[in-house]
Amino acid sequence: MFAWFKRQRRRKLTAAPFPAAWKRWLEANVAMVARLSAEERRRLQDDLRVLVAEKHWEGCGGLSLTDEMRVTIAGQAAVLLLNMRHDYFPHVLSILVYPSFFKVRQQWRDEDGLVHDGWEERDGEAWERGPVILGWREVLADGRHYGDGRNVVLHEFAHQLDFLDGRGDGTPPLPDPAAYRRWREVMSREFAELVRQVEADRETLIDPYGAESPEEFFAVLTETFFEQPVALAERHPEVYALLAGYYGQNPSAWTAH
Ligand SMILES: [Zn+2]
Repeated sequence: MFAWFKRQRRRKLTAAPFPAAWKRWLEANVAMVARLSAEERRRLQDDLRVLVAEKHWEGCGGLSLTDEMRVTIAGQAAVLLLNMRHDYFPHVLSILVYPSFFKVRQQWRDEDGLVHDGWEERDGEAWERGPVILGWREVLADGRHYGDGRNVVLHEFAHQLDFLDGRGDGTPPLPDPAAYRRWREVMSREFAELVRQVEADRETLIDPYGAESPEEFFAVLTETFFEQPVALAERHPEVYALLAGYYGQNPSAWTAH
């Protein structure tokens, strides 16, 4: 699509008043929204409408997709974009929504080189240049409940930000070489620390799933950053500072309105 045409269409879309029903769904289903300033809420509503209009949305596994579902998902994804230069997750063409946990077929090779396959339960999944796949039940529970460190929509869309440079490696595109150096230095140290804690079976603030790989570490940290910002700032100040710089936000100062 030509940039000019796209801009015109987006301008027209956001010029109309934000639908009252959509506002109610946002308030009921996206607890984070109450913590944003009025100006941020206005921008979130605009970004949300673009995501709803421009992505291909599909209900799967017998789910019939509603506007409430689109608004609840787009409203959470748009929190990530609030203060970034962005183009609405350009690699995400479609968003597939299942009623609940869905199963994906997994293949893996064991230490002896034998290939196994089986089904693994997931509540969300992001593929590079592929669809974002979510389970509605988990989306709704995470959206309504703020503060437990879990949010499947933030997690899957953080992967999409990481993929923007074509590499899902836990390092999203950054402004300059110094920023990359700093990111690598802090994140590799903190990742190694999480792996040690998980192996030692200790309680961690950061979801142990982050110890799987640097890319899961970034997705899980994004959840902690928005969901438990005060604890993250206290216990991992360098990580907090990096994410605050990257997202251009300071959720540790959020208060519920
Ligand atoms: Zn993940």
